Amino acid sequence: MEAKHLYLDCRTLDGWGCELTIAGPHEEIVRIALAHGRSIHEIAEGPHATIQVRAALDEVQPLVPAPGRKVLDCRDLPGRQGCSVSFTGPTEEIVSAELDHAAHYHRAAVTLELEDEIRLALRDETPATYPLEMS
Ligand SMILES: [Zn+2]
Ligand SMILES: [Zn+2]
Repeated sequence: MEAKHLYLDCRTLDGWGCELTIAGPHEEIVRIALAHGRSIHEIAEGPHATIQVRAALDEVQPLVPAPGRKVLDCRDLPGRQGCSVSFTGPTEEIVSAELDHAAHYHRAAVTLELEDEIRLALRDETPATYPLEMS
């Protein structure tokens, strides 16, 4: 059975607040979010940050299209067919979060080639990113 799919919108986190949205299985989102908080927002990892992230997890995809945001499906990268993690947000925040996810979850070597692959796999966010909410 597939792990429960959840969403985390960084803008809902007090004191964090960038436009990155992380989607995926519960435990991996929490791990990615803590690494993101540390590297982008200088939030110390620990019980407080973990509780904050868990409380912000949502079952509903946030509808937050904004100009210039990108989308990355981890599955679009070579050799990641089974992965359900995806990101929406500013390019540099996505690249940073995916590099961390690739290293810890997929045991990938963090190289400039990997970073190039990530940048090539980025797509523009469009209304079609949110098929359920648009009518
Ligand atoms: Zn953020
Ligand atoms: Zn992945």
